[in-house]
Amino acid sequence: MTLRTRITLLTAGLLFVTLLLLGFALEGLLRSFLYRNLRGELLEASNQVVRLLNLGGQALLEAGLPPSLYAEVQLLPEENPSLLAREGGISLQRSPALGSQRLVLKEPDYRTLLQAGEVWTEVGLPREGRPLSLLVYGRKVEVSLGGTVWKGILLVGKPTEDLEATLAQFARIYAGTALLVLFLALLLARRLVARALEPLEWVARKAEAMSARPEPLPEPETEDEVAALVKALNGMLSRLQEAFEAQTRFLQDASHELRTPLTAILGHVGYLLRRTPLTEAQRESLEVVKREAERMGKLVSDLLDLSQSGTWRIEPVPLRVLDLLEEVKEEFAKSFEGEIRVEAPEGLYVRGDPDRLHQVLANLVSNALKAGARRVWLRAFDLGDKAVVRVEDDGEGIPEEHLPHLFERFYRVDKARDRERGGSGLGLAIAKAILEAHGGEIWAESEVGKGSAFSFSLPASGPPPPPR
Ligand code: ADP
Repeated sequence: MTLRTRITLLTAGLLFVTLLLLGFALEGLLRSFLYRNLRGELLEASNQVVRLLNLGGQALLEAGLPPSLYAEVQLLPEENPSLLAREGGISLQRSPALGSQRLVLKEPDYRTLLQAGEVWTEVGLPREGRPLSLLVYGRKVEVSLGGTVWKGILLVGKPTEDLEATLAQFARIYAGTALLVLFLALLLARRLVARALEPLEWVARKAEAMSARPEPLPEPETEDEVAALVKALNGMLSRLQEAFEAQTRFLQDASHELRTPLTAILGHVGYLLRRTPLTEAQRESLEVVKREAERMGKLVSDLLDLSQSGTWRIEPVPLRVLDLLEEVKEEFAKSFEGEIRVEAPEGLYVRGDPDRLHQVLANLVSNALKAGARRVWLRAFDLGDKAVVRVEDDGEGIPEEHLPHLFERFYRVDKARDRERGGSGLGLAIAKAILEAHGGEIWAESEVGKGSAFSFSLPASGPPPPPR
């Protein structure tokens, strides 16, 4: 998951939790506000009912109460609330809203009422469909009805339906708005995060575009974290560059230093072989010294070459691929008894350094010959913006597990055998470095017993301008 997605999701997650908590808090506040109002209304209504009953009994109750108020006065059975609970007791007066129905509390509610003098509870009135839910306030009262003073309990209730509907409506509107806000915030967060990360992506692009040699990244003019990051990276790059240069210098010095004694050894061995009478055993020994010194000479010059690869100045010019291939064929044709075939489109040009590309091709052909090829096929293909050159042979082939490592320095398929054949194990690494310096690539395919094919790509070019 990208950093951008992670930050966006985190922001959205936080916002979601905040909106959810806010929603619950608002709903709670609204609920308590609405219920507080309802309780106030019920308290007020209970006082009014008592007043009306004391004034004139049922007739006034019918005229003076709002139609949505459910009120009932029940006779108070002194210490036996279960009587009231089971049957609703004896109802003395009822509001018109109740009709023939009764307000019946649960037994524990009656007990509370009798003990505390009042109770708040919810009562369901049977109705078609869902029962009607009421918030009921009960209190002890004394009312005089028809001249007699009755001790009883007064229950007043109002339906909570409207209130619950208001709360449900609020929840729906809030959820819709919250979803919209969440969606907009997600879009906005994505944009803002993308903008905030842009400088980092810019640094990554610059670092990616960097060539094999570490170069300092352009420092942004701002004074922010990205500038600090670029400065830190540049510090690290310059330390790397120093280490890299020190290593290269060491390799170059070592190679130069090794060349002089090697030249001396070869000179003296050559002299001894040509000019002095030798026994057969001495000659054989000197031949071995000569062969090994030559091999070491190649190794040293390859090492020197590779150590300088960071500083190569490739000056590409348009080159006709057919000419390049023909030159290599010519070079090997003299010493090679097998067949070298060349096949390339007439008008195929690449941009490259002629000597370096010749070096690559010569290395590939010499590897093919070392692998016992009887036939080498040099082919080139035009792929539009690039050209692919392929060196195919029918040599011994390379086991598959070695293919990914062939271009590593000092990698040999069969150490003893390849050393015998005079290789340094650096040829393909040099070829790869040369091709990468040209902006190309190299890869290998092979089948043991059938042969190998090494292909490389190079940027294509138009023909050179005609000389004036
Ligand atoms: P060297 O300079 O020793 O030839 P390279 O880097 O050119 O080293 O090649 C690495 C190894 O890859 C060689 O040791 C050889 O075993 C193997 N190799 C390269 N080309 C071929 C080929 N055409 N056929 C078989 N093996 C090959």
